[in-house]
Amino acid sequence: GAERTKNVLILMSDTGGGHRASAEAIRDAFQIEFGDEYNIIIKDVVKEYTGWPLNDMERSYKFMVKHVQLWKVAYHSTSPKWIHCMYLAAIAAFYAKEVEAGLMEYKPDIIISVHPLMQHIPLWVLKWQNLQKKVVFVTVITDLNTCHPTWFHTDVNRCYCPSTELAKKAQLEGLEESQIRKFGLPIRPSFCRAVLSKDDLRVELEMDPDLPAVLLMGGGEGMGPVKKTARALGETLFDQELQKPIGQLVVICGRNKNLASTLESEEWKIPVKVRGFEKQMEKWMGACDCIITKAGPGTIAEALIRGLPIILNDYIPGQEKGNVPYVVDNGAGVFTRSSKETARLVAEWFSTKKDELKRMSENALKLAQPDAVFDIVKDIHELACQRGPLANIPYMLTSSHEDKGVYI
Ligand code: UDP
Repeated sequence: GAERTKNVLILMSDTGGGHRASAEAIRDAFQIEFGDEYNIIIKDVVKEYTGWPLNDMERSYKFMVKHVQLWKVAYHSTSPKWIHCMYLAAIAAFYAKEVEAGLMEYKPDIIISVHPLMQHIPLWVLKWQNLQKKVVFVTVITDLNTCHPTWFHTDVNRCYCPSTELAKKAQLEGLEESQIRKFGLPIRPSFCRAVLSKDDLRVELEMDPDLPAVLLMGGGEGMGPVKKTARALGETLFDQELQKPIGQLVVICGRNKNLASTLESEEWKIPVKVRGFEKQMEKWMGACDCIITKAGPGTIAEALIRGLPIILNDYIPGQEKGNVPYVVDNGAGVFTRSSKETARLVAEWFSTKKDELKRMSENALKLAQPDAVFDIVKDIHELACQRGPLANIPYMLTSSHEDKGVYI
């Protein structure tokens, strides 16, 4: 029938690379599955609507993760429920009005939050507006195995948990089983549906066609011990006796321009590619044989889909800590903070321990959940259908028309 296009509002914030990547993954999957049925709007709520202190969140986040001890304190001191509730109530005063205006402007039929701090206030706003029964509100958690309790809110229609661990946590936080779904982390469709040949990719990316390749990165911001590890690999992947390389290295520095320019200016004994922020990560991952990264959920989930064994060399305290046992205990990788040890492991994988590399690759593929993003959007679609005809949600104009109660 000629049903009207439904509006989907995705609430995110650009802290790290992960939330935006998830938001875009969901948008793309909606478009592939349902075409024009849905109109997707991605909003960086914090950047666009809020006054102090939340518009500084992105900057403070970057500052804090660079000063890890500070982030640890911030993360854990906001964990007890009463503290974060108070904190949220305090900041609500600053930005509830603006969130409300934002919600009214886009008239969403469905709201999807992909951010730990975007449950409470939007849900309050829906309550004030008496829209809770009409608008579908879901949370898509973009952490993998540990996360902050602010992700969980008992008023949501669904909470999508990427792992068993988080699904359990959701229950402990008071969510009903009917509210919880476990599909996996949403990864961009261009990633999960890509059929790529390693040989072709190596030609396209101008890499050595035969040497095994290791991909080194540190999330969207190029964090962690990337420089040290690159240098260690540069030495260890060169066979002194035979005077030739046993592997090649790709370093993706993300938005870390200093890192990229430092590494670019160095001399290497092995083939090395240094890149900045790459838009087609699926290609670089598809061209390599293993990956070294901090324990970012997005990078881990993507590497698993590509069947890359993972060396985790760092994690952000708090939300990334549990990703380490997730990878290691499932036999898809190892954790070490030492760059020397990292380089030694890779050298072994590329020479005497090829079988270990292969086994880990198989374990990675077993853990991978490439269909997660499609499972999520199909489930949201079903929720929306259950709401019956969604037309005519009475969004009230809040500005000058307020007292007249004008509906649009
Ligand atoms: N990424 C990218 N290009 C880059 C570096 C990173 O597209 O040059 C993507 C990467 O594929 C992943 C995300 O950025 O999807 C990083 O997310 P993750 O959760 O690993 O770490 P964060 O940056 O959020 O801390």
